[in-house]
Amino acid sequence: MIVYQLTCADGHEFESWFRDGATFDRQARAGKVDCPTCGSTKIAKAPMAPKPLKRGGAEARARELAVEMRKAAETVRAHVEKNCEYVGPRFPEEARRIHYGESKERGIYGEASDEAATELAEEGISVARVPWPNRKSN
Ligand SMILES: [Zn+2]
Repeated sequence: MIVYQLTCADGHEFESWFRDGATFDRQARAGKVDCPTCGSTKIAKAPMAPKPLKRGGAEARARELAVEMRKAAETVRAHVEKNCEYVGPRFPEEARRIHYGESKERGIYGEASDEAATELAEEGISVARVPWPNRKSN
């Protein structure tokens, strides 16, 4: 199906659906397409303009959400970087040391594999996974 924006000889504009472009041509030539306002069968296709994406549509909302989530993740990252000590891949080891009182109690952050994070959780060591956005390069 295809929708055409049509205009009659008197300038009334209306939309009509056709199976395809050839069907429209055939029906218009045969005088089977008439203006709903005045009944004129002198119909022409109006110049088509691409319809702008409707704001507030699902796509636009998804984009907004993605931006909000990224902002939230950046806030978390900034907070963690400001308040915690970066221990990199030593994270599981250091989290364990703090938990067992072998290292000064403080907030730390770093990298841990899924397996290491699961092991920490099983030992009752609370760790949080946070989204970690890459810094914008520009
Ligand atoms: Zn008309």
